Amino acid sequence: MYELMIETSFSAAHQLRGYKGKCESLHGHNWRIQVIVSSERLNDTGIVIDFHELKAVTKDAISPLDHSFLNDVFPFTEINPSSENIAKWIYDTIRKKLYENNCTVSSVTVWENDTASATYYEA
Ligand SMILES: [Zn+2]
Repeated sequence: MYELMIETSFSAAHQLRGYKGKCESLHGHNWRIQVIVSSERLNDTGIVIDFHELKAVTKDAISPLDHSFLNDVFPFTEINPSSENIAKWIYDTIRKKLYENNCTVSSVTVWENDTASATYYEA
């Protein structure tokens, strides 16, 4: 298997509904995003996917979230904008966008800060 990884980031505010603690109050993060895709084979060029394309697809996926109040952005109007839910939403969005490529999304990791992250993947 081949595995490719890119990282990017976005800035946004959120507040967790029903959470008893600091994160219930409005606050922001510089979220760091790591996307890993994998493939059993390379294309005719000898690559899995162009890094620029993977970065563009990821940037496109997170653009509605950047500089937003996440609680106002669907689906976080309905589900909590936790790192876990953000990771799954980015995973699902990128997977749809990469549908016609020869690679699949392995995992998406979302860091709230340097020492805390959540990862979504499907077994
Ligand atoms: Zn937070």
